[in-house]
Amino acid sequence: MRDPRYDILFQPLAIGPLTAKNRFYQVPHCNGGGYRDPSAAAAMRGIKAEGGWGVIFTEQTEMHHTSEITPFIELRLWEDKDIPSVAKMADAMKTHGALAGIQLAYSGINGPNMYTKEVPLAPSALPIRTFTNDPVQAHTMDKTDIKNLRRWFVKAAKRSKLAGFDLICLYGAHGFGIFQHFLSRATNQRTDEYGGSLENRSRFAREVVADMRDAVGDTMALTMRVSLDETIGQLGFSNAEVRDFISMNAELPDLWDLAMGTWEDCSGPSRFKEEAAQEAWVTGIRELSPKPVVGVGRFTSPDVMARMIKSGRLDFIGCARPSIADPFLPKKIAEGRVEDIRECIGCNICITGDMTQGMGRCTQNPTWMEEWRRGWHPEKIAPKGVSESVLIIGSGPAGLEAARAAALRGYDVAVAEAREEFGGRVTRERKLPGLSAWGRVADYRLFQLKQRQNVQLYPGSRLSAEEVLDFGFQHVCVATGSIWRADGVARQHVVPMPIDARMPVFTPDDLMTGRLPKGRIVIYDDDHYYMGGVLAELCAQAGCEVTLVTPSAFVSDWTANTLEQSAIHRRLAANGVTIRLNTGVVMVKAEGVETNCTYTDQRGLIGCDAVVLVTSRTSDDSLYNDLKDREADWADAGIKSVKLIGDAAAPAPIAWATFAGHRYARELDEPDWGDALPFRREVTRLED
Ligand code: ADP
Ligand code: SF4
Repeated sequence: MRDPRYDILFQPLAIGPLTAKNRFYQVPHCNGGGYRDPSAAAAMRGIKAEGGWGVIFTEQTEMHHTSEITPFIELRLWEDKDIPSVAKMADAMKTHGALAGIQLAYSGINGPNMYTKEVPLAPSALPIRTFTNDPVQAHTMDKTDIKNLRRWFVKAAKRSKLAGFDLICLYGAHGFGIFQHFLSRATNQRTDEYGGSLENRSRFAREVVADMRDAVGDTMALTMRVSLDETIGQLGFSNAEVRDFISMNAELPDLWDLAMGTWEDCSGPSRFKEEAAQEAWVTGIRELSPKPVVGVGRFTSPDVMARMIKSGRLDFIGCARPSIADPFLPKKIAEGRVEDIRECIGCNICITGDMTQGMGRCTQNPTWMEEWRRGWHPEKIAPKGVSESVLIIGSGPAGLEAARAAALRGYDVAVAEAREEFGGRVTRERKLPGLSAWGRVADYRLFQLKQRQNVQLYPGSRLSAEEVLDFGFQHVCVATGSIWRADGVARQHVVPMPIDARMPVFTPDDLMTGRLPKGRIVIYDDDHYYMGGVLAELCAQAGCEVTLVTPSAFVSDWTANTLEQSAIHRRLAANGVTIRLNTGVVMVKAEGVETNCTYTDQRGLIGCDAVVLVTSRTSDDSLYNDLKDREADWADAGIKSVKLIGDAAAPAPIAWATFAGHRYARELDEPDWGDALPFRREVTRLED
């Protein structure tokens, strides 16, 4: 069944005293749940075990209370009391023969200690380096601090062992782990035997590994995670120094785990980074050490994975996002079902769970982080209930996911789409600069739907309430999407803004259907996610002279949560886009836009030939409202329920739509939740 080209991915390989059953290595990744939702996080890892991963890691685990990264919610192993909650995760990881790994992090210069109020400790006294520039500085560790920290690592290792883990990853990548802080001259300016030469800067890593080997090395494997390049120029831990470090310490860990730069560099979205983007950085490193090497690169293609191993670049295929989008990726390759892989689209919505301390979401896998809370399995779903048929109106992400999951349950499903092409917003957005991978949201679902006998697809079918009543489907799901507003209403303007009819005004829908403005244009972005920046890029490439105006202090402000805000700003600057921050648009005049300073209300005028309004969207719920008006006729028409989901209910990112579609299908024929909470949650047990 399995394509022999991929056999290499299933060869077992030793990591220190242990053996991984295959080459699929889920590298540490956050999920928003962490210590607040330990059972949800544990169940999520358990699903990966079931999906065939050979090695599965926790998220970053704070290993001592003197270094923590509040407000971010990861795991904690501060005292024995924390063992049961991480042990639950280790148990879940090991259910199908995977090796269970824990990533121990001492955050050093990255830990502001907002919760414990401890003084941060780091190799050198510098301001704490966090996303939020916390106004806190670190204290330079003296020899006693270093001795203490070595002891804390040993204690954490012993607790990890007690919790049942097989591997320990020492975190020294992304600027987040103390090993990097010692290794890099940027964060290690010491003049003692721990600073200066690379030999000295590696001393701390060597000591900790030796201590841990003595403590747990007989049964556990130790891995070291470093970035392939710190990406801050010569002062940083550069790719050349990383190579020197690995050559000098070739036998140090049992495996080299090679990440890249900062987290933004490492988890670059598909808009800015291709699959296997780190290939050049990693090439040749494997020859420097006898120990196996794992690397990442948003690998979703088994051909690329096999090539990385055959070419000798990597021994293990490291995946975070691809394992979130499809926890069953290894199993699908093993079973010769490559076309069933739900490929990660590289949108980084999964990261927003961590960045906002919300609960992780995935655009492609709506069951992610709902495995325990709602009992959702990514590949299994309950058989259908008492009714037989479902009509889904609208084939955007919400409609397609509702159709896919309802069909899997065994309902007779019909999908009616007004346009000739299925896919809703993603068929249009995928044509925008950098967003082609987003089309996978539709491609995956359409492929799955086309395989099934119980699904009928009707393109070019704009349905009216009358037609829906005539069809006689038992359940009607209205997923008709939304339309970008042309009146400026969003956050600055809660009622329509004055717009002079002589100025040509465009919305994102116009641009996506090929109606582009010309000449000098102003893009007014009061939406703050990706659309404003993407359209600025599109218009600049089409030859417009673009000024992007936003009331926010940052271009595409919310994309800080998807780790692409700085890349977007850089790209707009490179495309010659003029960026006006902290600036609103008061009104659109015949000759341009009247602006105001967000802070002082000082007015200005930007002359232009056209204005693009990226503001907010209006739900297209007219069909739903027409059906509601005819509620008295539903029973005669055989209709049991009519529901409104996705952007048609409330416009939001694509992940919200796939979640809504999935939930719709799961809850068909199920009793209403009424006033009850529709998921399980964990409540802190009170101490005496
Ligand atoms: P979501 O993100 O919620 O899935 P989209 O905007 O992507 O929403 O998709 C909604 C789809 O519904 C669009 O492709 C649109 O053409 C389609 N649609 C809207 N109204 C009707 C209708 N009355 N009948 C059939 N399809 C419709
Ligand atoms: Fe991939 Fe987006 Fe899912 Fe993250 S949220 S795993 S980037 S599809």
